[in-house]
Amino acid sequence: MKTTTYDVIVAGGGVIGACIAWRLGQAGRRVLLLERGKIGMGASSAAAGMLGAQLEMDKPGPLYRLGLESRSMYRAFADELFEETGIDIQLADNGTLRLALGEEEAERLRLRGAWQTESGARAQWLTPAETARLEPLLGPTYGALHLPDDGNVAAPLLSQALAAAARIRTDVMEGAEVLSYRVDGKGVVVNTLDAVFQAEFFILAAGAWSGGVAGTPSLPARVGPVKGQLLSIRPAGSLRLQRTAFAEGIYLVPKRDGSIIAGATEEHDARFQNDVTVEAVFSLLKAARAVAPGLANAAFERAWLGFRPTTPSSLPLTGPDPVYPQLIYAVGHYRNGILLTPVTGKMIAEAVDGGSWPEHWRAFRPGTTQDAQAIN
Ligand SMILES: Cc1cc2nc3c(=O)[nH]c(=O)nc-3n(C[C@H](O)[C@H](O)[C@H](O)COP(=O)(O)OP(=O)(O)OC[C@H]3O[C@@H](n4cnc5c(N)ncnc54)[C@H](O)[C@@H]3O)c2cc1C
Repeated sequence: MKTTTYDVIVAGGGVIGACIAWRLGQAGRRVLLLERGKIGMGASSAAAGMLGAQLEMDKPGPLYRLGLESRSMYRAFADELFEETGIDIQLADNGTLRLALGEEEAERLRLRGAWQTESGARAQWLTPAETARLEPLLGPTYGALHLPDDGNVAAPLLSQALAAAARIRTDVMEGAEVLSYRVDGKGVVVNTLDAVFQAEFFILAAGAWSGGVAGTPSLPARVGPVKGQLLSIRPAGSLRLQRTAFAEGIYLVPKRDGSIIAGATEEHDARFQNDVTVEAVFSLLKAARAVAPGLANAAFERAWLGFRPTTPSSLPLTGPDPVYPQLIYAVGHYRNGILLTPVTGKMIAEAVDGGSWPEHWRAFRPGTTQDAQAIN
């Protein structure tokens, strides 16, 4: 079988792999993106699209810093993608309310607001009356933490835009599953069912399936899926939810097209079970109605699911293998892959260039994170 050679091969065409391929193509590398199915059809198109840099973080640390950094890149990232592809990813700068539904939760969220404000981010505690004034469709709360800078994008459009951008700058092969990879001399040999490729660098970005690709070292072997089901509704009448409303067990994300995404289940034992279930749709609708009674007459649109890629520590594993620097991982973005796409593209482009990483990036390097410690 003839071997074709590239500078870099990327496995996986979700937002992470497509963004990395695009960035490396822009930098003048010869890149091949191999996607098992259609690019953009994994978790990336299923996501609710929140940029929850503050919402998702309950303590300071490298993930918090990485999320803030990536969120701050989004405006320029959206503009650049639009210029390159003509696709508008519908970035909404409308903020988020983290709702408290009990007194203890209110106290916890007030504390979270305090450390986030101290760190320089914007977070404001709202009383129950202020919350109700801001969002009249919501039911009673114990107040809310207002995070004005946590917006959202349309995840399916982000996936499409990155797919288009990758196609402009790189060779993209769909229906090309990477079966195995191995280090060979200075490079990496990558096998699909009917072809062999060679490259200086191989980047594994196969989402929740990354653990199933047979490779030289075992680091990404424990990346696996956390199934999430979600649905969309369309409000009746003229009242709109202005901001994302996020409560324990349910979130409502108003999109720029007028729909609201309600999500999501967190199913750790479902593996790749691929059905939208009655139980999930029922419990999401029930929780949505309880949190926002003003949406009871909204029209139900559709329900779908995705598989979040996760590691044992729930932290991303990003960067070169500690033993084989030709192998680079960009896996395990779990609940925050949409948020972390711009910064991950930058991290991997710099890793391939051999540039030095700032301290808070190094926390995610294979061999550094808790996952690596657990596996080694
Ligand atoms: C219900 C739900 C809601 C979410 N909401 C948010 C949110 O609001 N905000 C946020 O930031 N994140 C959110 N996420 C998380 C986010 O979607 C993921 O972290 C992100 O999409 C992961 O991107 P990825 O490119 O790593 O994986 P994927 O998008 O899953 O892409 C992996 C790709 O690799 C391909 N592949 C697999 N195996 C191979 C192989 N052997 N060879 C070649 N290709 C292969 C797959 O076909 C797939 O296209 C959500 C996820 C879910 C499921």
